Amino acid sequence: MDLAVAYNLTLPPREVLRLQGYKRPTDTPTPEVVAILEEALREARRLLAPRHTFRVFDVAAVTPEGIRLAGGETLRFAGAERRWGTFTQVALGILTVGEALEQRVDALLEQREFPLAFMLDAAGWVAIEEVALALTNTICNVHIARGLKVTPRHSPGYGGWDIWDQQVFFRLLPAERIGVRINDYCVMIPGKSLSFGAGIGPAARVEQVHKCQRCDLRDCAFRLVPRRGAGPLESETFRAREGTWERLLGRS
Ligand code: SF4
Repeated sequence: MDLAVAYNLTLPPREVLRLQGYKRPTDTPTPEVVAILEEALREARRLLAPRHTFRVFDVAAVTPEGIRLAGGETLRFAGAERRWGTFTQVALGILTVGEALEQRVDALLEQREFPLAFMLDAAGWVAIEEVALALTNTICNVHIARGLKVTPRHSPGYGGWDIWDQQVFFRLLPAERIGVRINDYCVMIPGKSLSFGAGIGPAARVEQVHKCQRCDLRDCAFRLVPRRGAGPLESETFRAREGTWERLLGRS
């Protein structure tokens, strides 16, 4: 499924600093650190190239050990039903921010420019999370319009999902088109890449209010609550859609 996604990466400086150990609001970086942060953000914006490949698969069966797809492949995601509730389809995706940033980090490490290298690397991790959020929000927006809920994403290697299922992802999705491959240990190259799955269905398990609060899709007519930090919902289209939500949330 070709899904156009607006990747407006904001690279929140506080998030980059948090990965550098500035975890408390009171942790203030020195002017020297701020200068390195600003340089890293300039470089990151120049080097990042977000891309994704994504497809939806019909589910044939779900067992405690995993998910059998209609096409015959099996996903060894133990406890999928416990996490995702009842779902009839699975969205599988691979995304990346490209290899340029990583190559620059390697070059800076070679030059022993460690502070800038680590700051740029942290900016890369913040970016991959932003890309994943933008893609999964768009998936949600497209499916909610069809009365289908989309669960939070999970990835092979975490939460009971067998890491070797990366091989299934790379069989089912044309990852070479976005310049991503895996090595013999199922590690993705470039390293700033991510694979994920999410359950889809009218009764899929999702904390929708929490999800809408974290979602920065501006024009979603199905938004349940304002984005965290945004103003109240006034749009007419939202009011018109309230019925859809009452039904999906079992309140009518
Ligand atoms: S605002 Fe809510 S319903 Fe709309 S795309 Fe975002 S998470 Fe989904």
